Amino acid sequence: NKQVVLKRYVTGFPTEDDMEVVAGIARLAVPPGTPGLVLKNLYLSCDPYMRGRMTKHDPPSYVADFVPGEVLENFGVSKVIASGHPDFEVGDLVWGVTGWEEYSFAPKPESFFKINHPDLPLSYYTGILGMTGLTAWAAFFDVGKPKKGDYVFVSAASGAVGQLAKLTGCYVVGSVGSDEKVNLLKTKFGFDDAFNYKKEPDLDAALKRYFPEGIDIYFENVGGQMLDAVLLNMRKHGRIPVVGMISQYNLKKPEGLSNAIMILAKQLLVEGFLVFDHFVKYRKFEEEMVGFIKEGKISCVEDIADGLEKAPAALIGLFSGKNIGKQLVVVARE
Ligand code: NDP
Repeated sequence: NKQVVLKRYVTGFPTEDDMEVVAGIARLAVPPGTPGLVLKNLYLSCDPYMRGRMTKHDPPSYVADFVPGEVLENFGVSKVIASGHPDFEVGDLVWGVTGWEEYSFAPKPESFFKINHPDLPLSYYTGILGMTGLTAWAAFFDVGKPKKGDYVFVSAASGAVGQLAKLTGCYVVGSVGSDEKVNLLKTKFGFDDAFNYKKEPDLDAALKRYFPEGIDIYFENVGGQMLDAVLLNMRKHGRIPVVGMISQYNLKKPEGLSNAIMILAKQLLVEGFLVFDHFVKYRKFEEEMVGFIKEGKISCVEDIADGLEKAPAALIGLFSGKNIGKQLVVVARE
């Protein structure tokens, strides 16, 4: 059972060497009288929040820290190969939190969703139809509350969130870290405009160029200097779903904000968002999103790493913007 384990707790920027691919032992049977599942893992999602789990937190964070020497875990798509639970049968396709390994034992099957649309690429359930898609959908619609004609700005816009932004029916501009991604946003995701933040020494000036009338919704994915510049450019009663702050995840000392007073002056709604509270809406989201995919209203761009050996590099790549679209790892295709 090939596995990816954390070697040590990480401070600063993670490296491939913080993880190790090892040969472990698979548990291929469900202990009699218990409700668990044995899973064959097919696709694993790489997500920026995993970086937080590589650090030891005291007091505890919103999600458990990984433990050195133990297998990493995250959302993924798996096939049930043994079941002790009446609702799951051998051969069922499911998605949920599983190990970064070929085979996993899941003691709590009720935390998995059965895949209702296996006619679509199963890998979509790591992204657009999985946790990241649900994040984008719930944070946009529940917190951002988009209205027709709103001016929307999305940072780190080439990930799952970016793929959904135009569904809001608003004027949407995204920032990304390469010209190739700018092009992707404009040609594939239908953004009204996009810019490469690495080429903009003055982010405030850049935002004023793209939003001469200001921003109604800022979908926050990066934090730091971008957030500070955005605060200067928000319109009165603007909304900021705070979904991620990837620019801060590897800093030993996170940056502060100079323009926080704008929250008061412009009467902004700034709301932290964690997807874990939104899984109750998953089936509604899934049906809506499947409809959009089948109607061709949404483009799914994936960056697929082949094999568990490539998983550490794929995960690290999120922090230098190496990925183009949803980063995932294929462990097995069926
Ligand atoms: P992406 O696929 O967008 O990958 C991360 C991207 O972030 C990289 O490709 C890179 O793109 C960009 N990035 C990396 N470092 C920096 C930096 N220092 N400054 C600016 N941009 C940077 O990831 P996701 O779509 O999966 O996630 C996007 C955000 O959403 C993350 O912040 C993540 O933590 C958050 N999230 C939050 C959830 C929640 O429940 N709150 C759930 C899921 C995701 P580029 O080339 O553009 O720099």
